Amino acid sequence: MNLYSTNNKDLRIDFPTAVFNSMPLDKGLYMPLEVPKLDPEFISRIAEYSMPEIAFRVASALLKDAIPEADLKAIIDEAINFDAPVVPLSEDAFVLELFHGPSLAFKDFGARFMSRVMGYFLKDNEQILDVLVATSGDTGGAVALGFLAVPNTRVTILYPKGKVSEIQELQLCTNGHNIHAVEVDGTFDDCQALVKQAFADEELNKKLRLTSANSINISRLIPQTFYYFNAYAQLLRKGRRKVVFSVPSGNFGNIAAGLLAYKMGLPVHQFIAATNVNDTVPRFLSTGVYEARPSVQTYANAMDVGAPSNWVRIMDLFQQDLDVLKSLVRSASYNDAQTLQGMKDIYAKYDYLACPHTAIAWLALEDYKKENPEADAAGVFLSTAHACKFPDVFPEDMKQQIAIPAEVGALRAKKKLAEKMNADYEAFRAYLITSY
Ligand SMILES: *Cc1c(COP(=O)(O)O)cnc(C)c1O
Repeated sequence: MNLYSTNNKDLRIDFPTAVFNSMPLDKGLYMPLEVPKLDPEFISRIAEYSMPEIAFRVASALLKDAIPEADLKAIIDEAINFDAPVVPLSEDAFVLELFHGPSLAFKDFGARFMSRVMGYFLKDNEQILDVLVATSGDTGGAVALGFLAVPNTRVTILYPKGKVSEIQELQLCTNGHNIHAVEVDGTFDDCQALVKQAFADEELNKKLRLTSANSINISRLIPQTFYYFNAYAQLLRKGRRKVVFSVPSGNFGNIAAGLLAYKMGLPVHQFIAATNVNDTVPRFLSTGVYEARPSVQTYANAMDVGAPSNWVRIMDLFQQDLDVLKSLVRSASYNDAQTLQGMKDIYAKYDYLACPHTAIAWLALEDYKKENPEADAAGVFLSTAHACKFPDVFPEDMKQQIAIPAEVGALRAKKKLAEKMNADYEAFRAYLITSY
């Protein structure tokens, strides 16, 4: 697979370079030069295949020249070692649960695949790879657990003190080994600024081999296509062929992967990009004007993004046919009061506890169904995180009902290991150089 940059269509680089760079110097995003179409025969018989088999077919269509088949298969079997079930709630509402991985959020798909791909391309005698991540909660946990014990890697995760949930913090701070958590007395923006400054620090880059593990890495996008194909396979087994996916969206990586799957041949009737009040994309789709804004804090805080990075990828995928994009992707935004009401309604109707992000996707699906009663499609809303990661948003009576997975109980017994730090670059730099 060769890749170009969305800011430079003439650039040509190979997959390993794109993985380690994460982002081209021109600040665009890497995109595959060609999007391969899967064999229609395979798609029509996809119900006969398992998740690992589907993931391998999809990944090898993209990566067969970059990673030999047996190695690719091993990477997939190790990275995607948990389920993504489509759970029926009613005749026409299904929830695609993407939170059965170790960090209990869908980011495990991207982070686990990326960590193994990076580990695969690292040679034994090379300098250790230093992965730096700033997190507002979910990314850090997925990256920490994804890279845990991956040879030749060392991960430093910065998170804002007091601003992540208890379970998110446990997932960051109880790993040990090659995972280091830094608790910054500041905001998520402060954490991100420290990481950015480290990447721009030439002297530091001579000493350490730094890489970022953020959500724009192409090796995080690819594995997110797997669960769209696998969800379609599950629906076929239930006799459903016409599918609508409603995707809770922040940085738009998840839905970008869905649209990549569509371009590779997955039949999808409709995508819905559901956002909180950070509605840059819904406004763009209704007015034609793209205007990023500073992000606003909401209950669905993993979607508090005012300038969604992956949107340019989507525009590039559909550059020849913007009209197709406009009818294929519908979007809607919901405020905190609506989100909370959605969480209560799902619970009342289906006895199902949905995290705030998931509830937004459900609300958007319900609105779509009201406006398109004739569609007769299977509506699938993506559940991006387990409810226990966002307990404080729930009303007390619902909060009591959240079943805490056993792994989390085990984390509570472990010692919390975090380096406390002010939002001070010199302190962070000294920590990186001296403390390992
Ligand atoms: C990251 C995240 C999102 C947003 O996903 P994008 O790919 O950035 O659109 C939604 N829900 C949860 C729980 C997340 O962690």
